[in-house]
Amino acid sequence: MAFMYATGKHRKPGRVKRTTVQAAGVAALTTTGVVGTLAASPALAADNSVEDTGLTPVITVSDTVAEQIDAQAEAQLVAARQKAAEEAAAKVAAEEAKKEREAQARAAREAERKRLNAFVAPIAHSYVSTGYKASSSLWSSGSHTGIDFHAASGTSVHAVGSGTVVSTGWGGAYGNQIVIRMADGMYTQYGHLSSIGVVVGQKVLSGQQIGLSGATGNVTGPHLHFEARTTPEYGSDVDPIAYLRQHGVNV
Ligand SMILES: [Zn+2]
Repeated sequence: MAFMYATGKHRKPGRVKRTTVQAAGVAALTTTGVVGTLAASPALAADNSVEDTGLTPVITVSDTVAEQIDAQAEAQLVAARQKAAEEAAAKVAAEEAKKEREAQARAAREAERKRLNAFVAPIAHSYVSTGYKASSSLWSSGSHTGIDFHAASGTSVHAVGSGTVVSTGWGGAYGNQIVIRMADGMYTQYGHLSSIGVVVGQKVLSGQQIGLSGATGNVTGPHLHFEARTTPEYGSDVDPIAYLRQHGVNV
């Protein structure tokens, strides 16, 4: 309050009253924050003067100081707007980064799903030597319940897709066999194996080696007998070539 009256003995009592009124006015100004700003500026304190008109004290603020206040207010406004803009931009960037991460995660899951769903032929670089439903006295049903892949004994046999092993061991006419419940709920069977490389309950991935081909069971020579079934049991066979084709494998 540098611009208030200095107390002195030359004052008349009447002036003191007006001072009180003026002080009330200054107090009201203080709530606006302007006085606080003025008081905080040393330059302003020097610039202020109180003219004693003999009636009402007048506070004068030079144009220079007024400009300084305007410039300060303007600078604060600009800074506040800039900060708000920067915060908004940072928020947008963070959201975009989050979206990007989510898109990458989705793509990775999709790639993994495709990899797990991708099917392969049970014997690589082979061919079907005996077709589905071919008739022969060799089979008890009188017709072939699967397809035979040409394969020398000891050839790697692959799970055609991902699934869980539900049966392994001796399968009578099928010799050593493996049955897998596929991820799509169907079953595949692999027969006449010379070696079984998986156990019941084991999860297998598409293309994973599950055993070696052979000539066990009712055969005239080594090959892989392959079936697609709706259940793990004999007699629920469906066309294995059509099944493989549904999963993108042409044999
Ligand atoms: Zn067969």
